[in-house]
Amino acid sequence: MTIFTCLTCGIEHQDTFRPPLRCEICTDERQWVPASGQAWTTRDELEAQGYKLVITELEPGLHAVSTLPRLGIGQRGLLVCTAEGNLLFEPPGFIDAAGATRIEELGGVATIASSHPHLTGSSIQYSHRFGHVPVYVAAADKQWIRRPDPVIKLWEECVELLPGLIMYQCGGHFAGSSVVHWPAGYKDTGVLITGDTIAVGGDRNSANAMRSYVNNIPLPASTIERLLSIIGPLEFSRMYSAFGVLESEAHTIVERTLHRYIAWVSGTMSE
Ligand SMILES: [Zn+2]
Ligand SMILES: [Zn+2]
Repeated sequence: MTIFTCLTCGIEHQDTFRPPLRCEICTDERQWVPASGQAWTTRDELEAQGYKLVITELEPGLHAVSTLPRLGIGQRGLLVCTAEGNLLFEPPGFIDAAGATRIEELGGVATIASSHPHLTGSSIQYSHRFGHVPVYVAAADKQWIRRPDPVIKLWEECVELLPGLIMYQCGGHFAGSSVVHWPAGYKDTGVLITGDTIAVGGDRNSANAMRSYVNNIPLPASTIERLLSIIGPLEFSRMYSAFGVLESEAHTIVERTLHRYIAWVSGTMSE
């Protein structure tokens, strides 16, 4: 049978003879279906079209893992390298032999996780390629699993992905939306990896969090307060979201601008 991938979100689906009628991820109010309708592709088709996996260093111990051209939602996945093995975070919806070899040269993959269902890409294909390593999915987002597989490990609240890499469930964008704290990152000043749980603003000097980024559905103040209470005790000076980076003073920027967000959604900000 065939592993079909939704062209809009780049998420692999269960092994079937025919593609599913619709992508549940894209028909949800947080995503979108193109005006031209639902479309599917496969790994082989993408390779024939010239898609390539591209791996580039962002800082010592951290590499971006993405595709050229951009596929689906188009996140920049991350490979976090540690002495105890590597975390592949938010892998793209495509894998190729050359890219996998490059990842192997960097120490391979010991575990896979994503901040939430939108950015799971081809997690199961990557897991199988790298020896059936675990793929962590927040139990609160179980209903969104598109390709069930024994490698999936459900978790709640907090989980140690690898020694020195802890994932915290924050909620918000999705009930299971989470962040990964990497204290050894950015010269030991700490890195927070947030996917879409906390996004970086277009000014590269602010943070925000939304129920839907593409359809502009905000989150209530209480959810942002909970998020702040979870990340408050974590030490980090740099933050990588799925699409942006706060290079330095990230903790201060996140605290300041999420409190601004709370003021706007609570109606206490004057226009
Ligand atoms: Zn989709
Ligand atoms: Zn998302």
